[in-house]
Amino acid sequence: MRLSRYFLPILREAPREAEIVSHRLMLRAGMLRQESAGIYAFLPLGLRVLNKICAIVREEQNRSGAIELLMPTIQSAELWRESGRYEAYGKEMLRIEDRHEREMLFGPTNEEMITEIFRAYVRSYKDLPLNLYHIQWKFRDEVRPRFGLMRGREFLMKDAYSFDFDQAGAEHSYNKMFVAYLRTFARMGLKAIPMRADTGPIGGNLSHEFIILASTGESEVFCHKDYLEMAVPPADVNFDDVDGLKQIFGQWTAQYAATSDMHEAAEFAKVPADKQVSARGIEVGHIFYFGTKYSEPMKAVVAGPDGKETPIHGGSYGIGPSRLVAAIIEASHDDAGIIWPEPVAPFKVALLNLKQGDAATDGACEQMYQELTAKGVEVLYHDRDERPGAKFATADLIGLPWQVMIGPRGLAEGKVEVKKRADGSKELMSPAAAVDLLT
Ligand code: ATP
Ligand code: MG
Ligand code: MG
Ligand code: MG
Repeated sequence: MRLSRYFLPILREAPREAEIVSHRLMLRAGMLRQESAGIYAFLPLGLRVLNKICAIVREEQNRSGAIELLMPTIQSAELWRESGRYEAYGKEMLRIEDRHEREMLFGPTNEEMITEIFRAYVRSYKDLPLNLYHIQWKFRDEVRPRFGLMRGREFLMKDAYSFDFDQAGAEHSYNKMFVAYLRTFARMGLKAIPMRADTGPIGGNLSHEFIILASTGESEVFCHKDYLEMAVPPADVNFDDVDGLKQIFGQWTAQYAATSDMHEAAEFAKVPADKQVSARGIEVGHIFYFGTKYSEPMKAVVAGPDGKETPIHGGSYGIGPSRLVAAIIEASHDDAGIIWPEPVAPFKVALLNLKQGDAATDGACEQMYQELTAKGVEVLYHDRDERPGAKFATADLIGLPWQVMIGPRGLAEGKVEVKKRADGSKELMSPAAAVDLLT
């Protein structure tokens, strides 16, 4: 992409309305535009990151055996009356009336709708287990929408729903999502810790929030330090291996980790003092086993081996891709700007032309741009007529993992300069070596 033909509205000044660094940087880097309180337009650079995050989420969901579909954003109130949640949900639900005075709503989540889809088609235990997910916009009329994408009113969610014949099956489904989540967040360069979370009126202890430690997080959390160094399961983990997944789950829940709702000071005190982490955190995912909470009132039943109909055991599993854009920046930035982990970076390389209009420099940049692009590398070519200083600042602000700087001084010796954004290290090398390094 040539910057001269792109849409990247960089702001030099930090906007006053932004309270936390990720919100500030997203606005300055031209990724995001607020349209109403808690409602945002993703500008092209922001959308590229969101799409990369969704691609990783999708790959790991698919790998675990979950199946993608797409449900609508608008739902009927009728469905929610069946589960008893229409009244209970309260003011966070955006209620809408259509021209026929039918009560509708903008979905804050999809348990009811997926249960309706399930019960329409599935009749036998032989069709289980099943896990269906989608990545769809949600609306929650949050009391305090704030911190940009972190707590939006309209936000993107990946929500998966599992259906099993019995509790043992449901636990395995839960473990599949647990393992998929460990991998998903690690691939984004994040250290997400599964923490015991409140299961509300359902009881039991099968609910975990996946939390990123960050001083700007809205949750108060307590955990064992060792979680920060634990290795996540490999890509070839066998999702059908019931005991294998149980073992991974066991390993990742053996040490203390709880949000403030579930915190037990006496238990936490048993963690060695130098291993106690008491911090703020961002909830980026949440998994939940809820048994027959929806299948009973909504009559989602299957016939068992004996022909008897029983309500299925369900779970739901959320990830916030739009919140993740912000969470990744909270976890990875410096004074100059964003530092994208490569797997979610909007482009891999910023190519900086340090003397626009100089024939040799323009030519060398053009060749580098063509070669990298031809090899499938995503390059943002800064080809505008701006001073090198301004180009350096923009490149650091938008935080692409690599910068290739080409100017007359280096070219005189046949060299270009390659800078790694993460640690600022710079190296002079031949254009061919730079292409090698970046492909
Ligand atoms: P929170 O405690 O932050 O209000 P929640 O517990 O209400 O979140 P869930 O119902 O568990 O959220 O939804 C699943 C995921 O959706 C969350 O883990 C989070 O990543 C994301 N999410 C929830 N609310 C928002 C929001 N207002 N803006 C952006 N992402 C959100
Ligand atoms: Mg909430
Ligand atoms: Mg929560
Ligand atoms: Mg939650």
